[in-house]
Amino acid sequence: MKYQNFITHALWKMKFFEWVSNTIGKNGKFVLVFHGIASRYYFDVEKDIQPTLTTTALDEILGWLEKRFDFLSPNDFFSVGKTGVLLTFDDGLASTFINGVPILEKYNAPAIIFVTTQHVAEPQNWLSDYRRRAIKQWGNLKNVPSNIAADFFNGMSEELVSQASHHPLVTVGSHTINHPFLTNCTPEQIEKEVSESKKYLEEITGKPVEYFAYPAGDYDRTVAEYVINTGYRAAFAVDPRGLTSITFEIPRIGLYQYDEAYLSMKMCGLYRKPIGSDIKLGEI
Ligand SMILES: [Zn+2]
Repeated sequence: MKYQNFITHALWKMKFFEWVSNTIGKNGKFVLVFHGIASRYYFDVEKDIQPTLTTTALDEILGWLEKRFDFLSPNDFFSVGKTGVLLTFDDGLASTFINGVPILEKYNAPAIIFVTTQHVAEPQNWLSDYRRRAIKQWGNLKNVPSNIAADFFNGMSEELVSQASHHPLVTVGSHTINHPFLTNCTPEQIEKEVSESKKYLEEITGKPVEYFAYPAGDYDRTVAEYVINTGYRAAFAVDPRGLTSITFEIPRIGLYQYDEAYLSMKMCGLYRKPIGSDIKLGEI
């Protein structure tokens, strides 16, 4: 057991996280961020290549959360007085919809899926990060077994994005076109990434796309202002930088393993301060 894990485990045993949670964590809102959800763990494939969670792990995590929090829809999240957790999934991988949504249905847990649009028209034209991971394992993209490609790397097709947007538990949000570090982009690139992804998703879904997630949690004031001026009503970060209002820098917690001590530590309110129950949509 790693040193940090040991400490976490010891504090959990002493019910420290439970005490913190009852003191500061219970009366606020948390947002979680997940990515792809593999249908199973592949023992013959390098661990780093695989999505961090399988359906079994997501099932266990949501089962743990269900006992402690209410699952919030985006509307609940932006309603004054409600407390609980809002689930989000970044990148718009096919596996999120195919493997993840049945688990959401089991717990009646709403979620926002933030779609990167570059791979929507061509689901096998994977995002660069996923392409790099595939090359690392298989040397050549053509060598990737098709069942694994579908499970790990394929993006949501237009058909899946449309289906997702009509699912009662799912809201589709934008995660740009190409998943760049937006603070490295020119103003023209930022404008294109932020506004064209929104327009494209609105065409596919026939619904307004109101939420945005910064790729890799990377943004600055200029980026946030583009997001605000494009007409999004809220934007999700990872670590907020205090540049605008919390509505456009909503902090999120990534959960990468199922382990009671780890979940208690991450969700008690110390790792990430709970968001006030009075957060308002569109407030700049
Ligand atoms: Zn992402």
